[in-house]
Amino acid sequence: MKILTKSDHVVVVGAGLGGWRLAEALRRNGFEGAITLIGDEAHAPYDRPPLSKQVMVGKWDLDKTKLATPALVKKNDVTLRLAVSAIGLDAAGPAVQLDDGTSVEGSHVVIATGTRARHLPFSADDQLHYVRRIDDVARLNAALATLTPGSAVGVIGGGFIGAETATALRTRGFRPVVLEVARRPLLGVLGESVSTWLLGLARAADVELRVEQKISDVVQSSDGFAVLFEDASTLDVGAVIVGVGVITNVEWLASSGLVVDNGVVVDEHLLATERIAAIGDVARFAWTSATGTELVRIEHWEVTNGHASQLAGYWTGGEETAPIVTPYFWSDQYGQKIQLLGHPRADDDVVRVSTSDDEKKWLALYSRAGVVTGIVTLNNPRALMLSKGLLEAPTSIDQAVSKSPWSS
Ligand SMILES: Cc1cc2nc3c(=O)[nH]c(=O)nc-3n(C[C@H](O)[C@H](O)[C@H](O)COP(=O)(O)OP(=O)(O)OC[C@H]3O[C@@H](n4cnc5c(N)ncnc54)[C@H](O)[C@@H]3O)c2cc1C
Repeated sequence: MKILTKSDHVVVVGAGLGGWRLAEALRRNGFEGAITLIGDEAHAPYDRPPLSKQVMVGKWDLDKTKLATPALVKKNDVTLRLAVSAIGLDAAGPAVQLDDGTSVEGSHVVIATGTRARHLPFSADDQLHYVRRIDDVARLNAALATLTPGSAVGVIGGGFIGAETATALRTRGFRPVVLEVARRPLLGVLGESVSTWLLGLARAADVELRVEQKISDVVQSSDGFAVLFEDASTLDVGAVIVGVGVITNVEWLASSGLVVDNGVVVDEHLLATERIAAIGDVARFAWTSATGTELVRIEHWEVTNGHASQLAGYWTGGEETAPIVTPYFWSDQYGQKIQLLGHPRADDDVVRVSTSDDEKKWLALYSRAGVVTGIVTLNNPRALMLSKGLLEAPTSIDQAVSKSPWSS
């Protein structure tokens, strides 16, 4: 059943990847009604993954990250309202209240407000750097331009963003020092075994990685910043970049009546109510995998793209059955490519299957109760793609190992 008609108005809050891809997909599917895209950044939708990769290394201008060029905005007939924040949602309207005193009523509202960088309560927080928005990276680049080559730069957090940023800083001739609070970076995400196998990558890329770092404060000093540790030691650096996770942008929904619990809770069609949907990083959605259905929130570029086409498909074409989405994520860090398929948990069992003698090229299978839940590869994109089928139907770990699709 076709849900949207020509007289409908889809109001999308959040002019990022998900919001823009949804607008494009609605038009591609023939929706002729109005689309308004509201965003609190001054920029039209752009892509974030290159910010910590190509842009940070200096290969790309910030301009190259643009998704919604003026020509595409015109072609897709989207009304952009930028540099304005949604501060409330009247779910009955539905209508979105904005911080400029206006409100926008639609027939349907899509929540695509994503996440923001988490800050820590350091004295110098205002002077520290984050890598989430175009403006963050422009400000960081301006600060780096004032440092002499070889300067030490503190990177707080050894997760994906911290590792990618440190790699780029090293390439640009700085001396990044990655400060990780856990025993190993990515321990809480990828678990004991895989985080151990990845531990040597930083050293091999000539990046200093310190683990179990208990930072008590970061303060400004006469020639930069001092990172202060609980054991009373200090580290002097020219700049500090913080990558310690994110917070969902949901405060504006406080009195909407929607269920917000680690993201906006939506069903298998990404609907919170009949006329309100949530997509992308902010959505906690009912996800059906080979191991069952669970509520998940996933901060992956591909998942956000998938949500946009799924919701557009449901509203314009009545695709009754939600497609099975296999989450995919990649990270380019320390000169290596890590890829992840599925949604494994850190405490799942893991076996590493060597596809070559090279320590820097492998595939690892995650399993829970004997069923494959995820695949991680290092520098092995072909093996990853050949193995995707292991997640599309319940596959026992024994079956997976005997089939070995990665080696075909
Ligand atoms: C530096 C970086 C590198 C990344 N690298 C990878 C990678 O290698 N692989 C991968 O899979 N994923 C990566 N990601 C994650 C990926 O970019 C996200 O999954 C994706 O951007 C999510 O899209 P979204 O539309 O849900 O949210 P976003 O892209 O965050 O867009 C949300 C938008 O809504 C705006 N907004 C928030 N609140 C309001 C409000 N109240 N009113 C109006 N507007 C509001 C925000 O400012 C933002 O512009 C990376 C992310 C970052 C930051």
